Amino acid sequence: MKIIKAYAAQSPTTPLLPTTVPGRATTENDVVIDILFCGVCHSDLHAARGEWPGIRYPIVPGHEIIGRVTAVGAAVTRHNPGDIVGVGCMVDSCQHCEACEEGLEQYCEGPHAWKQTYNGWLDGTGENTYGGYAANITVNEKFVLKITHDHSELAAVAPLLCAGVTTWSPLRHWQAGPGKKIGIVGIGGLGHMGIKLAHAMGATVVAFTTSASKIEEARRLGADDVVVSRNADEMATHQKSFDFILNTVAAPHDLDAFMTLLKRDGTMAMVGIPDSPHPSPSVGNLVFQRRQLAGSLIGGIAETQEMLDFCAQNGITSDIEMIKMEEIERAFSRMQKSDVKYRFVIDMATL
Ligand code: NAP
Ligand code: ZN
Repeated sequence: MKIIKAYAAQSPTTPLLPTTVPGRATTENDVVIDILFCGVCHSDLHAARGEWPGIRYPIVPGHEIIGRVTAVGAAVTRHNPGDIVGVGCMVDSCQHCEACEEGLEQYCEGPHAWKQTYNGWLDGTGENTYGGYAANITVNEKFVLKITHDHSELAAVAPLLCAGVTTWSPLRHWQAGPGKKIGIVGIGGLGHMGIKLAHAMGATVVAFTTSASKIEEARRLGADDVVVSRNADEMATHQKSFDFILNTVAAPHDLDAFMTLLKRDGTMAMVGIPDSPHPSPSVGNLVFQRRQLAGSLIGGIAETQEMLDFCAQNGITSDIEMIKMEEIERAFSRMQKSDVKYRFVIDMATL
């Protein structure tokens, strides 16, 4: 059996520390990848600390992976040893349900649904999957993305694998583009990508933040206007004006303050998954303007590739702060305080 060097939490209350985990056997459809960089998503923190139900320990987080292919199975056709590739939140799915056939593997209806990169269920065995805070990973070739960005940018490309596609997918689904007024709530890892992508799609973009220190930077990222969401007067100037709002906040908060900013028939899509519920939104705000409150989960493999190619063509990467593997706990603490501009990325050479 392969033994993989990694960082894991052994329980919700213990820090991430160096360890080893078993690697799974390589099949003929698999690609083996040496991990170069791994982004730090707020989901890694929610999961490691057991803030979500169903977390199994040890947990090796990390689903914003950039690496180099070291070996491929005999049936692999899409990737070759030496290629620079990406892996996001999924490493497999049933590949034949309706969702998978539509290229929406994240909504897979097969047994155990989509196979999450970490805390997922390996086929048949019930064994845990281990993520990108590790030396290497073995992934079905269909879930391995091609990376065409310049090799000097790879660390800043890693966050596209989750933060990029999780904002890209709803922006595309709800048709962000010229003539549309789009709000992005919460300027963290996901939100800063939401601003860049909605701006690149040609929409008018308004950023909502609770951090006054992010006002100028949100403009630099591509926002046409920035609102401090705790300021009721500033919020009032945008009543009933948005076509679509993407809410990336990682904590429970008052959704009504944003619902009333939507036009008739406007939608707010939630991507943040806090550990406890939001206060219930008022049904009146939905009924009287036929507004919709929706949700969205990452994105399918085809749309992840589409987003990566779009970003490579348009010079888009993430704004990152590089850390060493041993700095992960400090990075988690800073992320909890919204103190990250805008994504920590681990240099896996430091593992
Ligand atoms: P992040 O980098 O920590 O950013 C979250 C931002 O939310 C913060 O920077 C802050 O922005 C704002 N915020 C935090 N606490 C707040 C509060 N109490 N009230 C109002 N605003 C607050 O997190 P992330 O990595 O972007 O992830 C965001 C959420 O999305 C997490 O819950 C994560 O698990 C989830 N997620 C979901 C999916 C999916 O598929 N649906 C995929 C990835 C992640 P400001 O400083 O600008 O206010
Ligand atoms: Zn993520």
